[in-house]
Amino acid sequence: MSIRVYMDHGAGRSVDPRVLEAMKPYYTERFGNPASFHSEGFKTLEALNAARGSVAQLINADPSDIVFTSGATEANNLALLGAALRNRKKGSKVMRSAVEHISVINICKELFRDGFEVVECPVDETGVLDLAELERLVDDDTVLVTVMVANGEIGTLQPVRDAAELAHGHSALFHTDATAAAGQVPLDVKELGIDLMTLSSNDIYGPKGVGALYIRKGVRVKPHMIGGGQENGIRSGSENVPGIVGMGEAARLARQEMEAESKRLTALRDRLIEGVLAAIPESYLNGHPTERLPNNANIRFSYIEGEALILSLDDLGIQLSSGSACAAKTLEPSHTLLACGLKHEEAHGSLVFTLGKNNNLDQVEYVIRELPGVVERLRAMSPLTPEELR
Ligand code: PMP
Repeated sequence: MSIRVYMDHGAGRSVDPRVLEAMKPYYTERFGNPASFHSEGFKTLEALNAARGSVAQLINADPSDIVFTSGATEANNLALLGAALRNRKKGSKVMRSAVEHISVINICKELFRDGFEVVECPVDETGVLDLAELERLVDDDTVLVTVMVANGEIGTLQPVRDAAELAHGHSALFHTDATAAAGQVPLDVKELGIDLMTLSSNDIYGPKGVGALYIRKGVRVKPHMIGGGQENGIRSGSENVPGIVGMGEAARLARQEMEAESKRLTALRDRLIEGVLAAIPESYLNGHPTERLPNNANIRFSYIEGEALILSLDDLGIQLSSGSACAAKTLEPSHTLLACGLKHEEAHGSLVFTLGKNNNLDQVEYVIRELPGVVERLRAMSPLTPEELR
């Protein structure tokens, strides 16, 4: 039997079979439109509302504050473009951390083209936001501050509650992209002081192409999809009912199972990090040593390229990334690792392991056994490798 060790859950996850079962009837039997005034429509509306409730519960929000979207990218667009444009009278400055997802970075570029000043707040060498710098940068002209809950590439968790407080001190709105963190760490929008939060369905083992934006009551955003007024007029277009039902079921299961699963993943992650660092000279952990996602290990190997490592590991049945999956084809060094102070050549030699439900200890041990040989072989071919490591 061929070995398949999939450790790229940050890039894509399976749909939980229980989620798929919950979705099925909404393709074939319960296909009514939730806006229709008849019993079929009412049943679908009920399912939509139940899903809204489950997603809201995952982050301790009110169900009426959840807007379904086509994914995290759309939720980020709605949050950042929507809030900045709707509140532009408040000021002209938008602030983001240096390690945001590429979608947030590119939306901020769009805001810049639209006349906003975009300010990047730095992080330290472990990827943690520099709060003192944020405090210095944020001012009364700031409309919006965006800092992700956790970076999916290096795993580092951010001090979002403190960042939100600093934003609110200047009456700026606070958005957080919780895509990589949801389902792994507890999230409470009220306790954290969040105005806008991005969520993705697939990252909690729901279907792809579905996401949600939490919009705290009273926060105004400019809709970007104009039409029939669905989702409270914030996101028009007939809802993707099967997908939303799937996200709802995924959120319900995540809430129930998160604690045990995160504990299991943390143990696998720590064994992986310890095993790899012990077996391979000149290998280093990127990101924060403890304040990191339970499923994430990002390890740097001197003198070699991440892409070469990935191809060699794929031959052994091991699938992972060398950076953010969304930027995998650019061959640019990771902006996240550069923001942590790594040099270009250092940023190129990293592997991102994102563990998930599909992984177990045997698989982790298999990686720990196989990886040293691969690194050694590639180092032997690299002109950069010093004699003692050949
Ligand atoms: N934000 C973060 C933090 C992500 O990791 C991703 C990708 N999983 C996205 C946004 C974009 O998600 P999608 O491609 O599903 O829209």
